[in-house]
Formats: sequence, structure tokens, C-alpha cells
Amino acid sequence: MKSDKWKAIIIKDAQLRKIRKNLRVLLKSAIDIEISRLRGLENLYRKKRISSNLTPSQWKREITLSRMSNRLDQARYRSILQCTFGSMCISPEAKRMHSGIASLNKDMVWSPLEKAWICIDCYNYYYGTEAKRQWFKQHLEKEAALWDEITKDLPKNLSEREVSEVVDSLKKNGII
Ligand SMILES: [Zn+2]
Repeated sequence: MKSDKWKAIIIKDAQLRKIRKNLRVLLKSAIDIEISRLRGLENLYRKKRISSNLTPSQWKREITLSRMSNRLDQARYRSILQCTFGSMCISPEAKRMHSGIASLNKDMVWSPLEKAWICIDCYNYYYGTEAKRQWFKQHLEKEAALWDEITKDLPKNLSEREVSEVVDSLKKNGII
């Protein structure tokens, strides 16, 4: 989803909520299984690379598998299956259990600021007023500008995970 408008999906009927939750559980399971399959295959190539050499086509396959699992992981993270606030999610369910599971039963709101879904509790807490939305917008713009500055000299074909690793390393060494 790429909409520039806030969009809340609220279902009040108990039966429909149950159907929605079951569909989300199914979808999440399917994604988890596929990511696990891709990472398992990637791991086989990694082990072979450590014990012997990979042919160029095997190298390419390992990289392709890694990109596919990363892309799927990112898509899940930004999907309606979980609140993008993750460990900062304030819903009572998220406090009791893993937030990714908690949001499977929640009404969700599309945030055009983050291009991701957030649960209704986080929406009310973090974005419930125009002043809060403005504050977050400015905060995210500053963060994006800093990110662009940090990553401007990196090769363009790095995956998001590789870029994050570089940034973590810079932070660990006190460079940023
Ligand atoms: Zn939340």
C-alpha cells in the first residue's frame, strides 16, 4: 500500500473480527514458512561456501535467496499483520505477548508518514492529535535526512540489511 492518506480499517462485528484474525494467522504462517524455507536454502549455500568454494552461479543463487527472504521479511514488517511500532507498541495485548502476534486481532491504521500499518492503540497514542502528527512528521523527516547523509557514499546495490549492519557498526565505533 502506498496511499498518502491516513486510513483506518475498523471492524466491530465479532464474527467478522474472528474471520479477519484467522485469515491473518494463515497469512502470517504462510509468510513465516516461506521465509524459513528461503533461509534454510541460503544456509546450505553458506555452509558450502565455508567448507569449499561456490561456483559463480551458486554465489548468485545465495545472494538471490538472501534478497528474497529479506524482501519478504520487510514486506511482513510493513504489512497489516503487525504494528510497525514493534517493541514500542502500546497495545495491552502487545505487553502480554509478542507484538507481531498481538496485532493480528487489532483494528489497524495506515500511516502515510511511515508507509506502514500501526495498531489503533498506537495511532491514538502517537498520532491522535494534529500536533502529534506534525511532531512525528518532522521527526521522520529529520531521520530520513540523517539516513540519506549516512548512506550517501555506500554502494547502491546493498540490501537494507547490509546497510543496517554498516550503520550499526558505525554506531558501535562511535562514528555516528
Ligand atoms: Zn501498536
